[in-house]
Amino acid sequence: MQQPFRLALIAHDQKKDDMVAFARAYESLLAPCSIVATGTTGGLIMEACPSLQITRVKSGPLGGDQQIGALIAEGLIDGLIFFVDPLSPMPHDVDVKALMRLGIVYDIPMALNRATAEVLVQKKGLLRAD
Ligand code: PGA
Repeated sequence: MQQPFRLALIAHDQKKDDMVAFARAYESLLAPCSIVATGTTGGLIMEACPSLQITRVKSGPLGGDQQIGALIAEGLIDGLIFFVDPLSPMPHDVDVKALMRLGIVYDIPMALNRATAEVLVQKKGLLRAD
């Protein structure tokens, strides 16, 4: 049997509305996934999309990005959708960079904007290789 795709979702504050809209638009495609999200992002998506099963880690600035990075390093994440705000300074900028770096190191599909996220979910990218 196909194992669920383990998807991480994160959105910076200015991108949270976009993430909620994205999750709503693709709720049926995301529903079979095992989703992990940073605290605030995950809470907003859970409210908007009750059918999604979401495990929340800490808020990004309090270590949530690092927790998701650790899951990637452990091989426990199959893909990352991270709606990054490129226009605001972040107190946890180093964590954001570290997370992206691990996404590259472990070569997981990593969408940093909605256009790429749509390619990921629509092109059957949400299937696990194993
Ligand atoms: P948040 O974290 O979902 O808890 O806001 C996201 C971030 O800013 O990294």
